[in-house]
Amino acid sequence: MLTQPGYQQHLARPYRKALLNALLIITFFSGLLFAWINFGRHNYVVAIVELFMAGYSMALLFIIRETQRLEFWAMAYLFPFFTIMMVAMASPQSTANIFIWIFLIPIVAHLLVGRVKGLGLTLLYIGIASAIFFHRFGHDPDMMQPVILANIGVLTLCLIAFSHVYEITREQTEQRLTQQAHSDPLTQLPNRAHLQGRFDLERLRHQRQGTPLSLVLLDLDFFKRINDTLGHAAGDKALQYFANLMRTAVRQTDLVARLGGEEFCLLLPETDAEQARLVAEKIRHKLARAAIDLEGTPVTMTVSGGIAQLGADGDTLDAMTRNADEKLYEAKATGRNRIVN
Ligand code: GH3
Ligand code: MG
Ligand code: MG
Repeated sequence: MLTQPGYQQHLARPYRKALLNALLIITFFSGLLFAWINFGRHNYVVAIVELFMAGYSMALLFIIRETQRLEFWAMAYLFPFFTIMMVAMASPQSTANIFIWIFLIPIVAHLLVGRVKGLGLTLLYIGIASAIFFHRFGHDPDMMQPVILANIGVLTLCLIAFSHVYEITREQTEQRLTQQAHSDPLTQLPNRAHLQGRFDLERLRHQRQGTPLSLVLLDLDFFKRINDTLGHAAGDKALQYFANLMRTAVRQTDLVARLGGEEFCLLLPETDAEQARLVAEKIRHKLARAAIDLEGTPVTMTVSGGIAQLGADGDTLDAMTRNADEKLYEAKATGRNRIVN
């Protein structure tokens, strides 16, 4: 599991912007159309409200181009849009078929603001629409026929259920894809893309709170020999073993990432270079001490490492990685199985 704080909230949802955009354009033109129709029918209150909604949609079209708060503006669209729908339904001049608009509520609400707020909005407005319907037509035996009520009721329930279930599975798929894009399939460790996102967050924290941040690059020694002598599958198993060893050696708030091949990185918040060295040494010792069983052969691995601290050794992830890489190279050149700070 990936544990980057707040990474769920950083999911981009461009499809919601596209959807809201389409709805605003439709609302703009249909607002004008219905206003024109309702003026002709002397239904002035509804017509003016529809004109207002057309203008408001136009304004929102410009706002959402730039906004970072899409959900806020989606809500700012949905509340008046659904409220005006209710006003139109309550208007004595409107005909009964205006109530088919309630079928739009669950779909639009779920797609635009997700399963929780979407369901809340749906229940609220469908509840209001039902109250208006029974208030207007409760005494009309033609409208109160069981078959009519059952048709409307069952179709509404189906649309609520489908929209809700669809949104749940869509959110789960989105989460799974994001997780896959951020992790390495062999070791399940976060990958470089994930490391960059987490580094940006930790650097902000460093700037706000002044806490140190360190990075350790670790590269297994003579790893190619394992592949060459025992095969690629044994090499894979060795990488998984080392990934688990690192995972259990660090704190929950630390990040272990696989950068590629047999090269790994530790991102250690609230840790200066000297403390990072202790963490890296602990991992180095633990690895060198125990032999692992690979295809029936006991194998002892060693690892070399280089350390960089934010500020002293660079201000970006690239700069820090370059710096740590130079120290890692030095560790390799001076005999391996060591950490250079
Ligand atoms: P050094 O001590 O200088 O780091 O030597 P080394 O052999 O570890 O380094 P080198 O870069 O020469 O070789 C790295 C090897 O890691 C080569 C490549 O086949 C192996 N490797 C990279 N990714 C994987 C992987 O996903 N699975 C397996 N089994 N091997 C991998
Ligand atoms: Mg190596
Ligand atoms: Mg390497």
